[in-house]
Amino acid sequence: MSFEAYFCTASTRENTESMAIKITDECINCGACEPECPNTAIYEGGREWNWAGGTKLTEVKLEDGSVQDAKVLQKPVSDEFYYIVSGKCTECTGFHEEPQCAAVCPVDCCVPDPDHVESKEVLAARKVYLHQE
Ligand code: SF4
Ligand code: SF4
Repeated sequence: MSFEAYFCTASTRENTESMAIKITDECINCGACEPECPNTAIYEGGREWNWAGGTKLTEVKLEDGSVQDAKVLQKPVSDEFYYIVSGKCTECTGFHEEPQCAAVCPVDCCVPDPDHVESKEVLAARKVYLHQE
């Protein structure tokens, strides 16, 4: 299987029954969601993230065609609130029946992300990709 990080967001759109999850600015930074994520897609605001964390990826192919070590640290998506890396979110597909971050969030600020509408098939393929199954 190729190591193509960007395929995670370039999804097919014909089956729009699912969306990745995002965290809104109503987040109170309690941290309850972070340990629940089976893909380590959730990070504290201001903290760098990487593809390797919680996955079996060793390298990823970027949109410009270059290959990068999966342990390379990436810029935080948010400096203020916990955030979700959409390319690592599978909506918990293959692990749980429902998004675990949304299940534990005390203020219900883990919500479907309309900018990342994805089919169940894409989410399932991402799970296989992230964990190299
Ligand atoms: S929906 Fe699941 S995979 Fe996505 S960020 Fe929340 S806990 Fe992680
Ligand atoms: S559980 Fe909800 S309020 Fe707590 S850090 Fe996660 S998104 Fe923010």
